[in-house]
Amino acid sequence: MQSKDLLQLAEQFGSPLYVYDAEKIQSQYNRLTKAFSKVENLRINYAMKALSNVAILQLLKDMGSGLDTVSIQEVQLGLHAGYEPDRIFFTPNGVSLEEIEEVAALGVQINIDNLSILEQFGAKYPNAPVCIRINPHVMAGGNENISVGHIDSKFGISVHQLPHLVRIVENTNINIVGIHMHTGSDILDIEVFLYAAEILFDAAKNFKNLEFLDFGSGFKVPYKKDDIETDIEELGRKLSKRFNAFCTEYGKDLTLIFEPGKFLVSEAGYFLAKVNVVKQTTSTVFAGIDSGFNHLIRPMFYGSQHHIENISNPKGKERFYSVVGYICETDTFASNRRIPEIAEGDILCFRNAGAYCFSMSSNYNSRYKPAEVLWIKGEGHLIRAHETFDDLLRNQIPLPTTVGTV
Ligand SMILES: *Cc1c(COP(=O)(O)O)cnc(C)c1O
Repeated sequence: MQSKDLLQLAEQFGSPLYVYDAEKIQSQYNRLTKAFSKVENLRINYAMKALSNVAILQLLKDMGSGLDTVSIQEVQLGLHAGYEPDRIFFTPNGVSLEEIEEVAALGVQINIDNLSILEQFGAKYPNAPVCIRINPHVMAGGNENISVGHIDSKFGISVHQLPHLVRIVENTNINIVGIHMHTGSDILDIEVFLYAAEILFDAAKNFKNLEFLDFGSGFKVPYKKDDIETDIEELGRKLSKRFNAFCTEYGKDLTLIFEPGKFLVSEAGYFLAKVNVVKQTTSTVFAGIDSGFNHLIRPMFYGSQHHIENISNPKGKERFYSVVGYICETDTFASNRRIPEIAEGDILCFRNAGAYCFSMSSNYNSRYKPAEVLWIKGEGHLIRAHETFDDLLRNQIPLPTTVGTV
C-alpha cells in the first residue's frame, strides 16, 4: 500500500484507524504454502487471536486457510465466518473441561495441553479424536512473554512426561490423532525450530493412530528495513524433507499443520493516528497522538518496536520525537525516534499493525475502539465501524432509584 492511499483513507474514515492490505495477507499465505509445496498434505490454520475481524477470517477462508482458536468465542466467530467445524482447531490453555466439551461437541478438533484434563476428557469420551500439545522445552521466542516452550512455561505437556501420557492413553482408549507444539513467537533461528521438530517426531513414534503433526508457529516477521526474519523458504526446504522422511518411517502420509498469526497479518496492518499536539519540553519533543495503549498496547506491553512514518510529510527533515498517547498514564509508543518533521494535524502511520493490535484494544479511559478498513483491489472497505457512545453504555445497568444512596 502507498502512503497516499493511507492518507486518503484517514481522511475518508477518520482517525485513529486500522487498515489491512488484503494483498499482503494473500502473498504471505502463498509464500508459506509455496515453501512447503513438497509436503503432500499441508494445512495452514490461521491463529485468529492475532486479528479476529470476521472479514479477515472470511478472506483467509477464501485462500484455503483453516483456523486456530484459543477460546470458545473464537470458535463461534469462526463458525459465524463460515468455516466448517473440521477446519477449526482448538488450542486453549488453562480452560475448563466444560469449555473443551462444548467445543468438541461442535465438531472442532481439540488440542489438550495438560494431563489432568486429558485424563478427565479421556474417561468421559473414549475414542474421541484428540490432539496433544507437547512442551519440548526449547528456549525460543523474542522475549519471555512470548516464549511458551521453555522449562518454566505453563504451556503444553512436558515431553519428559511422555511415559505418563502414554499410560493414560492406554488406560483410557483415548484416540490421539495429532501432536502439537508451539514454542513461542518471534523465533529467529530456524535451527531451534528444527531441533524442536525432532523432539516432536520422537514423541510421535509413541502413537499409532496419528493423522497430523502440528508445528505451531512463531515465525519472526521484519519490523523495519533489513530486520531479521524467519527464513521461511529455508525452513520449508529443511523441514519438508525431514517431515517426508518421518512419514515414510511412520508408514503414513501425515498432514503437516502450521498455525501462523503474526506471519500472515502483521505486515499487512497499518495504524493511522493524528497528532493532536507537538510539545517541546526541556528534554525532548513529544508528539501526542489521538490514541494510546487502549488501541495499540504492544510497545508498552512487550516493548515491540513499530516503525512510525509521518505520511503527511514523508519528505520532511528528520527530527527526534517521543511519540506518546493521550491516556492518563505513561503510554509511550516510541522514544527518541527519527521521524520527518511533525506538525499538529499530521497523520502518523504505525507499521506491522496487523497482529495483536486491534485484537488487544480496549475501552480504557472510556475511549472508542477505532474503525477497521480492509484494502482490496485499490479500494478501502469498512469492516468495523468506529464505536459510539451506545457501545460504551451497552450492558451497563444503572442502579434502580429505589436503592437510594448509602
Ligand atoms: C498465538 C499462537 C499462535 C500464533 O503465533 P504467532 O507468533 O502470531 O504466529 C499459534 N499457535 C498458538 C497455540 C498460539 O497460542
